[in-house]
Amino acid sequence: MNNADFVARDLAVLWHPCTQMQDHEWLPLVPIRRGAGVWLEDYDGKRYLDAISSWWVNLFGHVNPRISAAVATQASQLEHVIFGGFSHEPALLLAERLVALTPPTLSRCFFADNGSAAVEVALKMSYHYWRNSGIAGKSRVINLTGAYHGETLGALGMGDVGLYRDAYAELLRAPITAPSPDAYARERGESWAAVAQRRLADMQALLERHAHEVCAVIIEPLVQCAGGMRMHHADYLTGLRALCDRYQVHLIADEIAVGFGRTGTLFACEQAGIAPDFLCLSKGLTGGYLPLAVVLTTDTVYQAFYAEYASERAFLHSHSYTGNPLGCAAALATLDIFATEPVLERNRALAAAMARQTAHLVDHPHIAEVRQTGMILAIELVRDKASRAPFPWQERRGLRVYQHGLEQGVLLRPLGNVVYFMPPYVITEDEIAHLARVACRGIDLAVAD
Ligand SMILES: *Cc1c(COP(=O)(O)O)cnc(C)c1O
Repeated sequence: MNNADFVARDLAVLWHPCTQMQDHEWLPLVPIRRGAGVWLEDYDGKRYLDAISSWWVNLFGHVNPRISAAVATQASQLEHVIFGGFSHEPALLLAERLVALTPPTLSRCFFADNGSAAVEVALKMSYHYWRNSGIAGKSRVINLTGAYHGETLGALGMGDVGLYRDAYAELLRAPITAPSPDAYARERGESWAAVAQRRLADMQALLERHAHEVCAVIIEPLVQCAGGMRMHHADYLTGLRALCDRYQVHLIADEIAVGFGRTGTLFACEQAGIAPDFLCLSKGLTGGYLPLAVVLTTDTVYQAFYAEYASERAFLHSHSYTGNPLGCAAALATLDIFATEPVLERNRALAAAMARQTAHLVDHPHIAEVRQTGMILAIELVRDKASRAPFPWQERRGLRVYQHGLEQGVLLRPLGNVVYFMPPYVITEDEIAHLARVACRGIDLAVAD
């Protein structure tokens, strides 16, 4: 089968995610036959450098020998078993390791099967905790402008990206939205740290008014990814932790995208020295192999549910594939790589290479900013550099960069007018240089006329 044959059959029966399917009348759909490391290969034999880790999930390359072997071994032993009333070794070992790797107060793991589900679990647990503790009325959540927490209705309700949210607004419960500490929105001459302080004051004002009806604040620590790779200073997290303690609301850290080394530390919260009440993990958890998610929480939360059955305090949430052994085996193999190789140290060199290869873009007339947190680097395209006026979204400038990338064998998938690199950690410095060259040329073409 070649690409054309594949695509004809695909478009006859499939409906792809996050896609206006009509685009595929002119935009090529790319069928992938195999992967190896940072490379993907289509049915015509063309190769693509996966610069976005296949939607931020892949950490150590496609068909990683260690992870593939672990999944194969597990598949020959136990593929799945009901996780209510039954248990298995991969889930036990994974929970022990996650508890050891995260702050000491996070001592319990509740598994789910995708990121949105993890967010739903954290939201339900937080609300239910206050209810079980006899504190009534804490049923609202504070989120941030530009937030993204997934697509199921509960998680989508916590988001603030209009593109995904607006069509469903009537179905969603409105959160209380605080202004993001997004450093891109800083005043001229203002530091990232100063923006954080200003936004903490806004958050405090909201908590002052609403804490009695709020169960939790939910945040993507350090980088709001789907909202356009907007970044903030770690001081915001430190200050937010203190405010949540002071006003008696939970802090939910959604590290689904930023966890597992993306920001330079294993978890983003480490850079602020804080522990959330709920830590949501998915995406990189399995190295990009299988859908699996986990919510870590505290003994305090756990104890509020731990009671005689008739007290009706139990957390009765479940998913059929909770704690799937194949996913847990992939996650264990992924953690083994972190444990046996200097991953974060190597990533510092790769992150520096990404910075070097894009440094010249600061002077580009249509680039407002190149920002970076660890292994995430983002380039903000604008119509007018001085005023930072954006290109109208209808012009789809980022999509032109995507198209150029595909032609040149690089998978970039800009978020609106934000071009970003978030590659697997097995990328080389030469591949980064290649990726940057293709991206820069794509940007020049995309902003012309
Ligand atoms: C991707 C993402 C989610 C949703 O995860 P899915 O597995 O796609 O449901 C939630 N929060 C953040 C921050 C994400 O990036």
